[in-house]
Amino acid sequence: MASKKEPIERESLPYAKHWIRPEDIEAVDEVLRSDWLTTGPKVAEFERAVAAFVKARHGVAVSSGTAALHAAMYAADIGPGDEVIVPAITFVATANAVVYQGGTPVFGDVEPDTLLLDPHDVAERITPKTRAIVPVDFAGQPVNYDAFSDLAEDHDLLLLGDSCHALGAEYQGRRIGTLADLTVFSFHPAKHVTTGEGGMVVGDDASMAERMRAFRNHGITQGPRDRMESGTWYYELADLGYNLRITDFQCALGLSQLKRLPQLLDRRQDLAQHYDEALGRLEGVFPLTRKEDRRHANHLYVVRFDAGKSKRQQAFDVLAQKGVSANVHYIPVHLQPFYRTRFGTERGLCPRAEAAYEQILTLPLFPGMSHSDVDYVVQALGEVVASS
Ligand SMILES: *Cc1c(COP(=O)(O)O)cnc(C)c1O
Repeated sequence: MASKKEPIERESLPYAKHWIRPEDIEAVDEVLRSDWLTTGPKVAEFERAVAAFVKARHGVAVSSGTAALHAAMYAADIGPGDEVIVPAITFVATANAVVYQGGTPVFGDVEPDTLLLDPHDVAERITPKTRAIVPVDFAGQPVNYDAFSDLAEDHDLLLLGDSCHALGAEYQGRRIGTLADLTVFSFHPAKHVTTGEGGMVVGDDASMAERMRAFRNHGITQGPRDRMESGTWYYELADLGYNLRITDFQCALGLSQLKRLPQLLDRRQDLAQHYDEALGRLEGVFPLTRKEDRRHANHLYVVRFDAGKSKRQQAFDVLAQKGVSANVHYIPVHLQPFYRTRFGTERGLCPRAEAAYEQILTLPLFPGMSHSDVDYVVQALGEVVASS
């Protein structure tokens, strides 16, 4: 990878960007010329490929990561009166999926140095109504799966992993995908592998997979392809579902992208290491802590400013002037107007998440970046904070 010393002026540097190659375009083109545009052979092939990659028995592909979370909540039989613990720092979809099913999200606080859901805090929020825990492998770093598995076992809860940041990540040598009862991935363009929009739930339980297959197709227990192959017009609406289907050409894109995942993870890791080294020369800005026993998927590169809010705002503004789009992941979900109004969640509920929110900034990280792009970002930050 080229590593120029002199940063060059750039038109713009987004915080994330998809990586489309000519072979991806060919793969989609081929499906567009075939007999199946929506649910066809590529959907099943993509499900098998992702499930095989993470060593899970089943994969159910749907129209988005959010739809995958929704289907997982359905498979877990979450409903009115049920509480589901989610982290305060995550994308709103993690909590929204609980609400779609009529459940109540309970926000857990995060560890200050990793922003991962803290199992000790979760333990204190478990009540007789708690049915599931949904940890998020924030930024691409796996949560403490041993601690969450123990909690789930002790309290008879389901563990549903929102691993939308963590395709290809590993916890103590085990790949994310079988460490929870169900694991959810997103194929949004900002994520590791994209299908434009798309998502998947993976897991080992056959009956949960079966339920989700019906759920993504209105609740009908036989798909059009099954009907055609078995030569029957009969179908049954067993329960209420939705149209959460993903198309065959999207799955062709996903299959093509998945082949480059190992290469993609290496590139992200290399760029993150370069950030770590370059930021080591600045004072007052720190990357999140990386745990030794985990392989980080490096979805987001998040830093904290120890001087807080004003420095973070200054850094955001200076980067914007230089064409660099930084971002903030995330505004604590319990502070969003919808949750405050509907569930009465207020400031003070998750103090560590609220404090971290004042300090965090996400710097650009995507496979098409070079070392000199990283140097350019870090040099701009150097105008805001002192260097050692
Ligand atoms: C991206 C993301 C989602 C939602 O995925 P979509 O494919 O955008 O619907 C859910 N949770 C987390 C943590 C995410 O990053």
